[in-house]
Amino acid sequence: MLDRPLFSTSWILGRFCNYNCSYCWPYARSDKVDHQPLDVYKATVDEIKRQARANGFNQFHWSFSGGEPTAYKQLLDLVKHLDELESKYQSIHMTTNLSPGSKWWNTWCANTALLQRRSITASFHDEFAKEQEFGDKCLQLQYELVHVTVNQVMVPEKFYELYDRMSRLHARGINVTLKPQSDLSASHIVDGYTDEMIKLMQNGFPQKSQGEEIYQIRLTDGEKDYYLDQAERFNAFGFNKFQGWTCNSGYQSVIIRGNDVKRSYSCHDVPLGTLDSFELFKDPKRCITPSCVSSADSKIPKCITI
Ligand code: SF4
Repeated sequence: MLDRPLFSTSWILGRFCNYNCSYCWPYARSDKVDHQPLDVYKATVDEIKRQARANGFNQFHWSFSGGEPTAYKQLLDLVKHLDELESKYQSIHMTTNLSPGSKWWNTWCANTALLQRRSITASFHDEFAKEQEFGDKCLQLQYELVHVTVNQVMVPEKFYELYDRMSRLHARGINVTLKPQSDLSASHIVDGYTDEMIKLMQNGFPQKSQGEEIYQIRLTDGEKDYYLDQAERFNAFGFNKFQGWTCNSGYQSVIIRGNDVKRSYSCHDVPLGTLDSFELFKDPKRCITPSCVSSADSKIPKCITI
């Protein structure tokens, strides 16, 4: 997003999830199927592209999450709709519990094959998932050149049990991320972590691709550049307060949550509209929000002038 005319859409398709983990936040999931018809979503994709192009962005990143995005019955048709000739570059990301069978994932791979980059954050939920099968699906996707990272919410009471499992998956050649558990307000990490646990979440398992360390975040103070391998570490370091900074969210990125179209998940700004009718910003705007609590938001380009 710093070096290319890339527009990012982060999309919570609905809250419905086929799992029901004991530690899940009440607002994060629902038993009720709450998706919209495929035509509505396709029209939204087309409208985002139209408005983003008017802002000068002709490359697109699509990130789907939920609830559980794979529980949307027409997801495979929706991801197929992303591909068209006018966009020079498109990438897709999904955050998923990886519960569909390997046949479903084969179709997902086929339907996204023409996109330039594909990645999956696979959340391991130990009350439902089986480690061997989960790791097998990760390797199946990696074989199809999909970038996979396993995301584990490090519940403090089970920290070392979860850490051992992540070590085993990592030993199979799969990237893993240790995510701190947030409190109910989603703005702070929960109590109960020791200094050693915090250090492991900040520095454990550096992200690699084909043996090389990879970086998703560039920070610069005007003289020197600094790198972070993944945006999740912003929260682990408590570096998520950007009020007063100029932020490209709403201009170079947008989020969709159910029917709402917003600048970003964390932003206190008035929403940009709904799926039927929304308007992106025409330029970057000042951040008015005390803390940027989602890594999807923290990683949108932002700067401060002193
Ligand atoms: S809360 Fe985060 S995404 Fe929203 S304007 Fe502030 S820095 Fe940008």
